[in-house]
Amino acid sequence: MQRDDAAIRDAVWRTARAMHREGLVRLSEGNVSARCGGGRVAVTPTSLPYADMTADDIVVVDADGTRLFGERRPTSELPMHLGLLAALPEVGAVVHTHSPYAVAFAACGRPVPAVIAGEASLVGGEVPVARLAAPGSPDMATAVMEVLRTAPGRRAVLLQSHGLVAFGAGLDEALAVALYAEQMAQTTALARLIGTPTILNVG
Ligand SMILES: [Zn+2]
Repeated sequence: MQRDDAAIRDAVWRTARAMHREGLVRLSEGNVSARCGGGRVAVTPTSLPYADMTADDIVVVDADGTRLFGERRPTSELPMHLGLLAALPEVGAVVHTHSPYAVAFAACGRPVPAVIAGEASLVGGEVPVARLAAPGSPDMATAVMEVLRTAPGRRAVLLQSHGLVAFGAGLDEALAVALYAEQMAQTTALARLIGTPTILNVG
């Protein structure tokens, strides 16, 4: 393990705790990854509640998913994280959540429209939906990349009947995108109870 990996593992742990604290996931749902350099990736472990997690539980793997550091097994969504980081060189971190309003849109296979100016510009516009793919399979990354090829510049994508994946240059940005995408979904759902929200031309 490189010395600088410790700081990135700590940042991944802090981001995962924040994701849990903000209500974007429950128990051990969701996962977080970040580049360490040299092709290494720091990622949250599988099946460990965030309330019990420490920075020492964060796993470091190489680009093929071979574990380089850590006692725990990496998240079952490791193939998705590695596939997205390999395909998106400008992305430094990936946050995957099951936040309730975003999942409601994903369950319906409906994109989250750009209805809040500031949040929508940070998220890159509408949050599109990737087709159904088996959780834990490399097909998850393939499905997300299919959407991003038709909608470049988007920084969050819904996973059909599953959840949301958000990207950023770093962990803070990826977490902010996940939070703002959830905010857009919540606001859209509430606004539709009141009337017809105006869709903004963003992204
Ligand atoms: Zn998931």
